[in-house]
Amino acid sequence: MADIIQLLPDSVANQIAAGEVIQRPASVVKELVENAIDAGASQIKINIKDAGRTLIQIIDNGCGMSDTDARMAFERHATSKIRSADDIFAIRTMGFRGEALASIAAIAEVELRTKEHDQDLGTFIHISGSSIITQEPVRCDNGTNFQIKNLFFNVPARRKFLKSNPAELKHIINEIQRIALANPEIAISLHHNGSAIYELSGSNKRVRIVSLFGKNINQNLIPIDTETSLAKLTGFIGQPKHARKTFGEQFFFVNKRFMKHPFFHKAIMQAYEKILPPDAIPSYFIYFDLNPADIDVNIHPTKTEIKFENESAIWQILQASVREALGKFNIVPSIDFDQAGSVDIPMPLHDFSDVSMPEIKVNPNYNPFDQPAFSKGNSGSPGSFSSKPLERSNTGNWQSLYKGLGPDLSVRQETPVDEPVQFRIEEQQTIKSSVQFKNKYILTPVKSGLMVIDQKRAHERILYERLMQVLENHEVASQQQLFPETFELNASDATLLTSILPDLRALGFDIRDFGKNSFIINGTPGVLNTTSPIEIIESLLEEYKNSPVNLQEKARETVAISLAQASAIPYGHTLKPGEINELIDNLFACQTPNFSPKGKKILSIMPLEDFEKLLK
Ligand code: ADP
Ligand code: MG
Repeated sequence: MADIIQLLPDSVANQIAAGEVIQRPASVVKELVENAIDAGASQIKINIKDAGRTLIQIIDNGCGMSDTDARMAFERHATSKIRSADDIFAIRTMGFRGEALASIAAIAEVELRTKEHDQDLGTFIHISGSSIITQEPVRCDNGTNFQIKNLFFNVPARRKFLKSNPAELKHIINEIQRIALANPEIAISLHHNGSAIYELSGSNKRVRIVSLFGKNINQNLIPIDTETSLAKLTGFIGQPKHARKTFGEQFFFVNKRFMKHPFFHKAIMQAYEKILPPDAIPSYFIYFDLNPADIDVNIHPTKTEIKFENESAIWQILQASVREALGKFNIVPSIDFDQAGSVDIPMPLHDFSDVSMPEIKVNPNYNPFDQPAFSKGNSGSPGSFSSKPLERSNTGNWQSLYKGLGPDLSVRQETPVDEPVQFRIEEQQTIKSSVQFKNKYILTPVKSGLMVIDQKRAHERILYERLMQVLENHEVASQQQLFPETFELNASDATLLTSILPDLRALGFDIRDFGKNSFIINGTPGVLNTTSPIEIIESLLEEYKNSPVNLQEKARETVAISLAQASAIPYGHTLKPGEINELIDNLFACQTPNFSPKGKKILSIMPLEDFEKLLK
């Protein structure tokens, strides 16, 4: 038989390899901006069209390239940054694999204008799908100007895989945020379709953080500054009272490179233990500087995961620094410290390698939207739309809903999610004997034992079903604000809010975009009866950002879910007896009282036998 193995042409090999480095427009932006930083630029301008689909332009005032280098730069494994494998252990530059430009040139059209500072003329190169179309001398500014057009024009599968423009733009903004925080001394501007998102002048870390996240963050920043023989740590942590419910302002940098590090995140969370509101995550901007030989940045193609030689020791230094900073600001009672004032390098006492971030367990088969559609007039659907969130609806109806249902099918048995658990609350009086426990649960005696209800999830379910009814019946009822409030968001949140504004309007929000990332709230959904609309919008955005991506495709429902979560009574909130009863009534008037809109269990029954066993 004839031989059948052939070497792939470079253009095909590059296209395949490109998949690893370039997943979306934001990856191109990241690689090109990092190259500009490596070229010593003090100013970088980024222009984007259509979230990067049509154009990504990066202009820098760095060292530029010679004619030959400009051509060479597009070859795979072509780099000016390392010469031998040993150099990898002394890396101070962002790039070193020599892969980015070859990958980008394989899947887009590239126009490059570049000039070294001591030359009169620069060079222009036009490449499409890995082939050089032209190279000629050109008059241009010092530095480098890349234009990437028609990204993925020859990889339709990738093009299809791209998300909506706001979603892709958000990825770009996130990359720019990270790079801008890592390099506060570099002036960076970002324009999208001609309008400015960022115009950051070169400054220090604090000013940079404030210009990215808004002036309110300024008084919230507590400085960190620790130097040990292993590493230097600088930056800021946020005050506990400003901690938000979800991720967004948590950043680690190592030698000016953004990194993700769940294990170090845990060190910070532990330092804040007991001083944070429940479920909140503090802001932090922490910069590690250490000998490049003590880290390995080569374990991940996009280089966001970094391995540390002395991971456990650095973990302890980090935690001690955070505790010390909190202590200095009198945030933690000093009695909590045994070593306040100084940070030694503690030797690792335990092996922390098995500590990992808690995983969020989600039932992959559960789809909250698979429930039968709510129909009007169904006695099980929440009836009233009064402005009080816990107003009694279907008063007295709840018992009949459960009449005749088997009493002992307790929730503890593995119950298929789409079959609501059936149970019966014994007597109306027993409901009256419901109590709140730890300001988090409601305990209610039922025939087969003791029912435990999660108060927040229960309220989320109630609000969610009410909001869905508003959407389905187009019964928008907006409660006008007496004093319309204005608020400003950071660029990425502003983009997100703009993209979900139509859905928020359908739910009863009256919000206008004022331009420059500011908004005004004139009205809120009648269903919510909220007094702090801005807070709700902020937590709504957080919840929305953290919804699984496949859920975000059902944007309306996701907005309703996020809004329900953002407005539900928080844990820690004491309920009056009347409110407890209303909550229970309203919960059992819902279509799906057993599960929260995101599919978490709302209630469970501890069977009588278990009590008996306990006391044996
Ligand atoms: P790497 O950054 O890993 O070296 P790249 O493919 O990103 O690989 O870039 C290849 C080479 O092209 C770089 O090593 C550098 O010499 C040159 N280069 C790329 N972008 C620029 C730029 N903006 N200014 C100057 N030189 C650049
Ligand atoms: Mg590079």
